[in-house]
Amino acid sequence: AFIKEIHFVTGAVSMETLPKPLPEVAFVGKSNVGKSSLLNLLVNNYSIAYTSKTPGKTQQLNYFIVNRSQEDKKFFLVDLPGYGYARVSKETRDKWVDLIRDYLEQRKCLQVLFHLIDASQGISQEDRYFIEFLLTTHVLERYYAVLTKMDKCNKPKDMVVQSIKSELLTLGFPFEVMVIPTSFKQRWGSEDLWLALKPLILR
Ligand code: GDP
Repeated sequence: AFIKEIHFVTGAVSMETLPKPLPEVAFVGKSNVGKSSLLNLLVNNYSIAYTSKTPGKTQQLNYFIVNRSQEDKKFFLVDLPGYGYARVSKETRDKWVDLIRDYLEQRKCLQVLFHLIDASQGISQEDRYFIEFLLTTHVLERYYAVLTKMDKCNKPKDMVVQSIKSELLTLGFPFEVMVIPTSFKQRWGSEDLWLALKPLILR
């Protein structure tokens, strides 16, 4: 099997405290987008409970290692701190941007960036700020949009996916991006995430 086990490794607070490089897959999104829920859904079959709830306070990069033995491909899942707490100070916001910018630009082993977007709300103003920022970095070809809370959408899945794709093009993406719909509540979509990341991790 591609995934045998998943374990929590560390909560890194700065570039200096990141673990020794392995191929890695990062998850980012605004707070409340459903990131913890989706991570739970992803790792659930591997019988570890995912918990990392420290809203707004410590801005940690939570590292999980997938597989541990020599025979298996090892890689990290990284839960990046959420953005867009309405009430955080400019200082906190600037710190977040600095850390995430350094991370995206310097972490060469980052293979996949999953950007979570709440499908029931569409691309919000905070998401737009993040996308603008992202367009100035060099990780675009590793970018995937992941739609959360699809169960709250009344429109057909394909229509929602297509409209997000078009909107991302309008926002300045130079090519059509991959968009993966999910629902934690209805417990679907995690298989597609594993399928998307597998070839990038194995290459
Ligand atoms: P985080 O702040 O991004 O980690 O978000 P959470 O995973 O804590 O989820 C925020 C809220 O959205 C919680 O109340 C969840 O129950 C809810 N939520 C998460 N995923 C889904 C989903 O797929 N469907 C629905 N309807 N609610 C969800």
